Amino acid sequence: MSKCGILSMKNLKKLNERVSAARKETEARGETFYPGPSRIHLAAFPPKERWDDWVELDSRAWPERVERRYMLVPTTCFNCESACGLLAYVDRESLQVQKFEGNPEHPGSRGRNCAKGPATLNQITDPDRILYPLKRAGKRGEGKWERVEWDEALDTIAARIRKAIVEQRHNEVMYHVGRPGEDGFTERILAAWGVDGHNSHTNVCSSSSRAGYQYWMGLDRPSPDHANAKVIFLISSHLEAGHYFNPHAQRVIEAKADGAKLIVFDTRLSNTATHADYFVSPYPGSEPAIVLSMANYLIEHELYNVEYVRQWWNWEEFMAVEHPERETSFENFQLLLKELYAEYTFEYAARESGVEAHVIEEIAKVVATAGTRFSSHNWRSASAGNSGGWQVTRTLFMLNALLGAIATEGGVFPNAWNKFVPKPIHTPPHPPRWNELTWPREYPLAMNELSFLLPHFLKEGRGKVDVYFTRVYNPVWTNPDGFSWVEMLNDESLINCFVALTPTWNETAYFADFILPMGHGSERHDVHSYETHDAQWIGFRQPVLRAARERLGESIADTREINPGEVWEENEFWLELSWRIDPDGSLGIRQYVESKRRPGERLGVDEYYSYMFENSVPGLPERAARENLSPFEFMRRYGSFEVKKKVGALYRESVPEEELEDTRTDHFGRVYTKTAKPPSLNIVPVPSPDGDAEGRRLVGVQVDGEILRGFPTPSGRLEFYSRTLADWGWPEYIIPTYIKSHIHPDNLQTDQTVLISTFRLPVQIHTRSANAKWLDEIAHTNPLWIHTSHAARLGVRTGELVRVETEIGYFIVRAWVTEGIKPGIIACSHHMGRWKLKEAGQRQMMATVSLDHQGDRWGMKRESGVAPYESADADTLRIWWTDVGVHQNLTFPVHPDPISGMHCWHQAVRVTKAEAGDAYGDISVDTEKSHEVYLKWLAETRSAEKFSPDGTRRPYWLLRPLKPAKEFYRLPDKPEPVGVE
Ligand code: SF4
Repeated sequence: MSKCGILSMKNLKKLNERVSAARKETEARGETFYPGPSRIHLAAFPPKERWDDWVELDSRAWPERVERRYMLVPTTCFNCESACGLLAYVDRESLQVQKFEGNPEHPGSRGRNCAKGPATLNQITDPDRILYPLKRAGKRGEGKWERVEWDEALDTIAARIRKAIVEQRHNEVMYHVGRPGEDGFTERILAAWGVDGHNSHTNVCSSSSRAGYQYWMGLDRPSPDHANAKVIFLISSHLEAGHYFNPHAQRVIEAKADGAKLIVFDTRLSNTATHADYFVSPYPGSEPAIVLSMANYLIEHELYNVEYVRQWWNWEEFMAVEHPERETSFENFQLLLKELYAEYTFEYAARESGVEAHVIEEIAKVVATAGTRFSSHNWRSASAGNSGGWQVTRTLFMLNALLGAIATEGGVFPNAWNKFVPKPIHTPPHPPRWNELTWPREYPLAMNELSFLLPHFLKEGRGKVDVYFTRVYNPVWTNPDGFSWVEMLNDESLINCFVALTPTWNETAYFADFILPMGHGSERHDVHSYETHDAQWIGFRQPVLRAARERLGESIADTREINPGEVWEENEFWLELSWRIDPDGSLGIRQYVESKRRPGERLGVDEYYSYMFENSVPGLPERAARENLSPFEFMRRYGSFEVKKKVGALYRESVPEEELEDTRTDHFGRVYTKTAKPPSLNIVPVPSPDGDAEGRRLVGVQVDGEILRGFPTPSGRLEFYSRTLADWGWPEYIIPTYIKSHIHPDNLQTDQTVLISTFRLPVQIHTRSANAKWLDEIAHTNPLWIHTSHAARLGVRTGELVRVETEIGYFIVRAWVTEGIKPGIIACSHHMGRWKLKEAGQRQMMATVSLDHQGDRWGMKRESGVAPYESADADTLRIWWTDVGVHQNLTFPVHPDPISGMHCWHQAVRVTKAEAGDAYGDISVDTEKSHEVYLKWLAETRSAEKFSPDGTRRPYWLLRPLKPAKEFYRLPDKPEPVGVE
């Protein structure tokens, strides 16, 4: 090594030789070689051949040398959406999990985890976790519970659902999920019941980001190939807290080591920003203005991929429909493009964003050098904060579309191409109905369910819910306007029976009728696949003690046999509940939860996953056979399987001859066919499900004389121009543009400022990590970020109390004075402020509070913070923190974006020094005012009733998690839906 610690070429060569020798030596023993970070022969992970009997020294026995023997069993982390692989170290003597580390066989995470992965151990050993099914014993929300047998809970809930179905009240059954952590299991259960009752958290999370991507490419998520990029552009704190951030972060850092340039936009100086080559702190919501100025630069100087734009943008349709006065030619389109974006100068962007024009210009020049190796990503953050935030991703992806950096090495792929969803054993049909409580006609283009408006819809008398499930979801705490949720949940005439499926106490569960304990990531089955890079893989989450005991020859039929207390898993719960809803099969439900191996008996999870792995994962049976394992045994042993590396540009694939029978090509080059869709095991780019008037389906697009697959959009191409937005009443947004946010300076009063409330803390994750002691010790509060100049104006110092006043109330929080935020903007993480009404329940991260409720007025006072306590875990006596932050979301009204349906999180607020009598954690809210704000935003929508071009409720091609049958897209009293051309 040189003096400065950098390896000389000579030493690097020597090291490589040693690594190579170590590899040979290990492989000669028939074992897997996992080179350690030092690149010397220390392995980074236990070789998989030794996962049955792995020996480590017991660190607690030091200095004595005590060996402990483990079985290493893979599962998948459930502490965020990344689904990284974990390896559970199961002690062979006690058959308990000793620790979790990374699974080196997992293609997405490659053995690495963030802090939340290993902290799964804290969650499963949490002394305060819910171990038995509970039934409400007092009034709703009174906090009185009694233990109940699983049988009683199942029979009661099943009987209610059966009655609702028999009485044709299907729309009164609702399942509201936060983090699904699986691919489609529960949607299929709801479809089996014939219920359009799926409700998700997505409209408080990522709808805006999704909408911007969907309007371009027909699929709603990006899959950036960061590792191979030359320029990486992140709008968010993605390296520490973004979507798939651990799998992405490691690839971003690899690319940086290879010389890639990293651009980060974040109003806060986040940890991500500190790794950037170019970091700018824009005024919140101005991001599209900056990005469009970069697009303008590429267009004006013809630095874009002209041939790509000619071939793949739907410019012909745009010219013909929107500019018939001009001859439809590509040259004319290029001229028009210049005109359309000429207003987005660097100076304009600078005025909007507060970022200097020369800085934006310098970054634009870097973007221009990327060619097709340009990866970009936005998720939540700016798109989730602002009205019109969906233009953040729409304009960002425009840079990729201009550079031709789509499905290229180092570019961005549509997510579905880098994801693999296997077919299940049973596939029920689409439900034959439409639920307006989740998909109201005012929001025909919403990306997801208008979940966070439910209390307002019920308040207006739009319906009621007979059986309401929450799962990995805590709307009272997570959603805006939580007191409206409390009001709704306390009203048994609106929510008749509330069932909370949760492993741990949360603010919403306190208002439930049944609390049913569900397993953590190492206590349940799920299968999933996410777009972490250009590949396709599936991961298998499994109850690790079940897998370990099966390795030892035991047979486990029900996951409750190995979980603590009577903790169950959702797969088995839903199968059993469905069986009890339709015990004799007369409702047509039972067939979808029945065993194929043993007709007449209920399906079990072993059969469910065995069937899937044997029949619908290409390559898995062969791979498993090489180790004399069944596909199911292989997944039990390794926890993941890579289906395909390097998926490539599927949209450029030729449509095979056999799919081209009786075709018709329209004047925009769309090719329609009468051949049936081929059964496919894989996700391929399927063009729009809308067909032509003669019943043909769109099969591909003509590109320079060839028929290629194209994109799953109505045009089959990348949609620079959205005919959908034009047809559904939004002509002003038919191309990527900049929408001034609801918190744009033009919309603020002089004494107001902007509160950014959307950022995560890297070691916490909403509701699920509050019972993870290691994480709680690291991060347990959420002070208000306020710039030094701003703080000086207010006369506030770090640690002093400030009052933040929103449209419907206020909260009292401590200030953190910092240079790390744009002057004049304030920020507060939403990951804190957990609370409970009684001492019982979760005690590591929930303050005890009292509520004061009079009419529409709600107040919250903190009675006590957390404190040390005696429990089965001696560490709970070592709790040294008392503060757990402030629950700011309670004071936010709902802000549904009229197009995407996304709740726009940023708040226009007044911030002042706290007043006499204010105390830390105080909350005050007026729910009548919050209803007024809801009505104000509702008035901004353009309803399907008035604007639908074809009598339907929603464009059929737009994604929807659980699609009803097509005929139920029709609005009552409107003509039959017709194919859209
Ligand atoms: S990023 Fe962290 S929390 Fe998310 S799945 Fe991976 S290890 Fe778990």
